[in-house]
Amino acid sequence: MVNVNSVLDVSLTGCVDDGTVPRCLDWEGVLPQGLVSSPGGVLVSKLIRELRQACFRCDPEFDLGLVDAGIRLALDAHSDQKRLSGEPFVTHPLAVANILAGLGVSAPVVTAAVCHDVLEDTGVTVDMLSNATSVEVARLVEAVSKIVVPASGGVDSQAATLQKMLTAALGDPRVVLIKSADRLHNMRTLGALPPEKQDRIALETREVYAPLAFRIGASVIARELEDLAFQRLEPEMFGMVSQLIARLSPQRDAMLTKVTSELSRELKAAGLECVISGRTKHVWSTYKKVVNLDPGDWDEMLGVWDLVGVRVVCENVRDCYATLGVVHELWRPLPNRFRDYIASPKFNLYQSLHVNVLGPGGVPVEIQIRTQEMHERATIGVAAHWAYKKGGPPTTQDLEWMLRLVEWQTTADTAEEYLEAVVAELTEDEIQVFTPSGEMVSLPAGATALDFAYQIHTDIGHGATGVKIDGQPGLLTGQLQPGVTVQVLGGRRSGPDLEWFRVVRTPRAREAIKRWFGKAARQLTNEPTTPTSQQTV
Ligand code: MN
Repeated sequence: MVNVNSVLDVSLTGCVDDGTVPRCLDWEGVLPQGLVSSPGGVLVSKLIRELRQACFRCDPEFDLGLVDAGIRLALDAHSDQKRLSGEPFVTHPLAVANILAGLGVSAPVVTAAVCHDVLEDTGVTVDMLSNATSVEVARLVEAVSKIVVPASGGVDSQAATLQKMLTAALGDPRVVLIKSADRLHNMRTLGALPPEKQDRIALETREVYAPLAFRIGASVIARELEDLAFQRLEPEMFGMVSQLIARLSPQRDAMLTKVTSELSRELKAAGLECVISGRTKHVWSTYKKVVNLDPGDWDEMLGVWDLVGVRVVCENVRDCYATLGVVHELWRPLPNRFRDYIASPKFNLYQSLHVNVLGPGGVPVEIQIRTQEMHERATIGVAAHWAYKKGGPPTTQDLEWMLRLVEWQTTADTAEEYLEAVVAELTEDEIQVFTPSGEMVSLPAGATALDFAYQIHTDIGHGATGVKIDGQPGLLTGQLQPGVTVQVLGGRRSGPDLEWFRVVRTPRAREAIKRWFGKAARQLTNEPTTPTSQQTV
């Protein structure tokens, strides 16, 4: 039996004794009596204390008053609800808010996370929420609540979820950020559910949530989602790869120390103020590197390709390129392994310089160089514009790919088709190729020269008659290799070939070709919804 006063002490002591975080709201009037006297009350107090500390750490000016108002409302609204684990329900939204606060998001996002489930299954209305917190918080929670789909577990509900997420993301990517953190906490606490349900949720996480989180650039959340789904769905393989990482880590850490100290010495000598850190490996991405290899070769292969990753965060873009110069002077760069995502950001607006060098002792090292702002975007993605205090929202052009995915539903005839197409698009690896003038163009792996042409401009696609790859004649329908220079030839032709529709990989090219053929193309895709319908061309 937990003493009421000792529970309250936990929260108050934590805040006051910390000496930095402003005093908590008055718990005595807030924690419902039933909650305080239960063991769950200890956990609730701990989560509230950690949440407030995380907010304060991220910004001493953080609007804790807003967060406290949200906490008060959530405690009250969920007071008689429990999770399947038996813990008070409010531990869930508090944990979700903790995840986001740890990533350094702003007060309205944290508060919306605290309140993200109050509209769904308590008596709280949007107006009540808005009055208690703010209009912005209420809008966010309303958008998050709209994404909830009856969990039939089938393809239909997955497709519906994805479509709603994408639509919401277009309006405000912070909504997807909150949904991703929501799913992350549900995945962390999956064990309380019946095994069948665990599998279904893990599968949906792998198929829908992780790719989407990754695609909006919320990489920290996406990586953990991938690992948790992997652990649930393939426990044995997960264990093997985890052991591999553990086996290699002493070797890697020693190497990392060497690289970091040499690099920081040289950067200092060049007058550059940068922060260097080692990158942690996650299990799923390591698995993907070794999946086609014999487990006996894992250690050796991984050692060659993937031993050390270093990240350098600089003050500004100019320093990033200066740092690149220092790196190149210090270690020999590996040919064809340099990527300038600062000049040409990825789809999800990710920016960095990636360079592979032969580091100390001839061991390959991958170095990522970026500014603090780029680093924030690499952590929580496009939502960074909104989620942090500074910076304006991304332009429509920035989010063009997202718009494309939402629009795609109008050309997909069944939920299966939509889900398959969008997930394929979300999970696709990217390749980079170049225009004759040296501009980098990002395309999904497997894209053809036609996709490249349509990516540049619809008219260039429609008018394409041939292509030169690295100066040599190539096939318009051929798949592009990373790093090649592509020159589209054209002018004599009046429009696309219907056959192209089967070949192109990107939604943009498919859309353009479809639009050109209008009715003919609709017939093409409206035929019975079997995969063979496309072969009737
Ligand atoms: Mn939730």
